Amino acid sequence: MDTTRRHILDLHRRGALRGALGLGALAALQPVAGRAQALAFRSYPFTLGVASGDPVADGMVLWTRLAPEPLAPMGGMPHAATEVRWEVAEDARFARVAQSGVELARPETGFSVHAEVAGLAPGRPYFYRFRCGAEVSQVGRTRTAPAADAAPAKLRFVNAGCQHLEHGYFTGWRHIANEADLDFVFHYGDFIYEGRGVQGMEPSWGPAVRSHVGDEIHTLENYRQRYAQYRLDPDLLAAQLAHPFLMVFDDHEVDNDWAGGISEENGGRAFPVAVPPELFALRKQAAFQAWWENMPLRRAVLPRGPEITAYRSLRFGNLARVHLLDTRSWRDDQPCGGNPVVVPACEAVARPDAQMLGPVQEKWLLDRVAEGGATWQVLAQQVTVMRRDLPGGTFNMDKWDGAPAARERLLRGLAERRASNPVILTGDIHNAWVGDLRLNPLDERSPIIASEFVATSITSGGDGSEAVPGQAEILRRNPHIRFANNRRGYSLHEATAQRMTVTHRVLPYVTRAGAAQEDRGVFVVEAGKAGVVQG
Ligand code: FE
Ligand code: CA
Repeated sequence: MDTTRRHILDLHRRGALRGALGLGALAALQPVAGRAQALAFRSYPFTLGVASGDPVADGMVLWTRLAPEPLAPMGGMPHAATEVRWEVAEDARFARVAQSGVELARPETGFSVHAEVAGLAPGRPYFYRFRCGAEVSQVGRTRTAPAADAAPAKLRFVNAGCQHLEHGYFTGWRHIANEADLDFVFHYGDFIYEGRGVQGMEPSWGPAVRSHVGDEIHTLENYRQRYAQYRLDPDLLAAQLAHPFLMVFDDHEVDNDWAGGISEENGGRAFPVAVPPELFALRKQAAFQAWWENMPLRRAVLPRGPEITAYRSLRFGNLARVHLLDTRSWRDDQPCGGNPVVVPACEAVARPDAQMLGPVQEKWLLDRVAEGGATWQVLAQQVTVMRRDLPGGTFNMDKWDGAPAARERLLRGLAERRASNPVILTGDIHNAWVGDLRLNPLDERSPIIASEFVATSITSGGDGSEAVPGQAEILRRNPHIRFANNRRGYSLHEATAQRMTVTHRVLPYVTRAGAAQEDRGVFVVEAGKAGVVQG
């Protein structure tokens, strides 16, 4: 045993490796170059669980983060790179290990591990776990994508997100964990909420079932602690243990309703004191780093300063290509003083160069779609694309309704490239919606280019109700909208070469634990035939 390790073990014995006390004491203990520390943990280091994501035909990303004291600064870890071993096996007992390796959990990235596994067989389940010192993690189940030229019989996936910790129990995640044979879960964002503890609740959100730790989050250490608080939830853990995830972020991973370089505190009516963009950039940098650290993402997605390139494309045989989009980073600020976001439209809405994806991502997306190679082109993103003319003739400026020229360019681009059966996955508004997207949303003879399925929230908005407030009027104003529901839950998609079937699974309540799920609304898109039909 070298001196460093003996010293660390000695500190553990004396209880010095706890919280802030450990930080100063260990500054002199950085291991010599090329040597990582080997720890004897005082408590279980895999408190935040394990996860997998971004499956390809021969691998995926395996994630964990060492945090023996999950809510303490740096998870209670001594500040030295720590070796973590990972194993992928064909069986849950690890009798047939298929791949293994060692990664360093480093203080610079919050002791997170992102193992990019390759060399596995396509289209099959695998089991994985991590080891550090004498400690062994939970066993996760994951899955490789089908080979690029394979013709899988079906693809099953879930669309879910918006999991405000204070608004309810994560019962939806428990039901998702129990869904059989999912190829993946698309998490549309709002994995955390950035607000302070319960006193920051709006009355319409209902009673809080638990409380965020601390005030609104701004620093890297604040964001890390918030992710830790969410990841301690056992239902969320169960879902992450059960399936690979495709992760994107929406607004609350950074700040409510942020847009490009502009904070929610933008000098508008609700927040007259604006945060300057160069200071908001510092917050984005902290938020994106913590997001990357806490998600099963590849190193290619690592943020560079306040910028992150998280849009990417995944292939599931000849059945589907899934394009994961970022509708926050390169969009315009909400027009028409859209803060709060629901306002009557003004002249600024009609600006012809309106941006939601930004020119670079928009071109990237249309180039990917033009490559074809799959029955279904799935655009997996955050905010509602379909026009929603809301009660009193108002529109939500935070959605594509705030940038109709960008929506028209997207739909025209999909049509010109003869996109194969485009389906859009959305979240963010905390209720479920189904609708068709016409090139001209005001003309019922205009061709349908795509169909959109908005998944409800896991908890955000509390128990909810069967109908969205104002639902009858909204459906009357928007004939292309086929369905709305205001319960919590998720959407289950099943795609074959013939059709995509979408089932809205809802919970009667989330402010008490243990709700059973019920189905509300089954819809089908037939391949080669644009438009949603009742299932
Ligand atoms: Fe949300
Ligand atoms: Ca959101």
